[in-house]
Amino acid sequence: MKIALVGIGKIALDQHVPALAASDDWELAATVSRSGRVEGVEHWQDLGAMLEARPDIRVISLCLPPVPRFEAAMQALQAGRFVMLEKPPGATLGECHLLRETADRLRLGAFATWHSREAAMVAPAKAWLADKTIRRGHITWREDVRKWHPGQDWVFEPGGMGVFDPGINALSILTEILPVPVRLTGAALEFPENRQAPIAAKLRLTNAITADFDWRQEGPQTWHIEIETDQGGLALHDGGARLKIDGAATSPAPDALAGEYPRLYRRMAELVRAGRSDMDLRPMTLVADAFLLGTRQITDAFHF
Ligand code: NAP
Repeated sequence: MKIALVGIGKIALDQHVPALAASDDWELAATVSRSGRVEGVEHWQDLGAMLEARPDIRVISLCLPPVPRFEAAMQALQAGRFVMLEKPPGATLGECHLLRETADRLRLGAFATWHSREAAMVAPAKAWLADKTIRRGHITWREDVRKWHPGQDWVFEPGGMGVFDPGINALSILTEILPVPVRLTGAALEFPENRQAPIAAKLRLTNAITADFDWRQEGPQTWHIEIETDQGGLALHDGGARLKIDGAATSPAPDALAGEYPRLYRRMAELVRAGRSDMDLRPMTLVADAFLLGTRQITDAFHF
């Protein structure tokens, strides 16, 4: 199937282009970006012009930041295309609901991707937890924003989500592996005095689950989820690449994180063939609720 990539920036080049190149399902037929390019691939600066000129491209994968993504996704759906959305699937829940409704009404599909759910040990963690009672849990998601988003000021603008840009990855794993629904009960957000989005957040959820997100961690990065149950404990390390049950490591998968985007594109191919959407908004709902319920503290200015 032919696909076009929109928004040729960091994640498009790091992950989407290699995953498409390695896939038997997909042919990268065009890109749309104001300045980004992929060597050897037909390039457009205007999405509307590409959609009109290339009716043979049925699927549009949107790698734009969340704020500009909605208009582009709606334009693609209204032009009769399936859409694949980077995480988070929109800047607001309202946008996401509207995209889903539009895709359904037009008998197309919208896929809200959560790449961290595709980390190799997430499915085994979910299987292990399936018949257990959750006693408590803790998420530690601390990384260096300068390393992962160099110079990307949009992450601190309204709609950029701040530290929830990575934190939503942890919440996407949590909501996938738990056998029960969780709800946010409290949050404390830290905003740099010169920015519009938080640089750190502490969350409280039901089932005695807490989370600590911080974007100021230099040196080794920490992406851990620990869950205690009535029958022992589980720890997912390195963003879902490694799994420990009761302190003992399970055998590591060879494609631990490298398999994330290939698995997302395999799923997108299934959705297009079936004419369906997949839009799970639970991670985004927890983030929205943290902004609704959270206390706010002003902290030191942040400069890239
Ligand atoms: P990015 O490099 O800053 O942006 C992607 C491209 O979107 C840019 O190169 C730019 O291309 C276009 N763009 C940026 N701002 C725009 C605007 N206001 N209006 C129109 N086009 C705009 O961002 P990214 O890091 O790839 O992240 C994109 C999405 O992927 C985000 O939702 C992020 O959460 C997700 N993601 C990122 C990472 C990561 O490691 N960075 C990992 C996983 C997921 P042109 O200037 O050429 O138009």
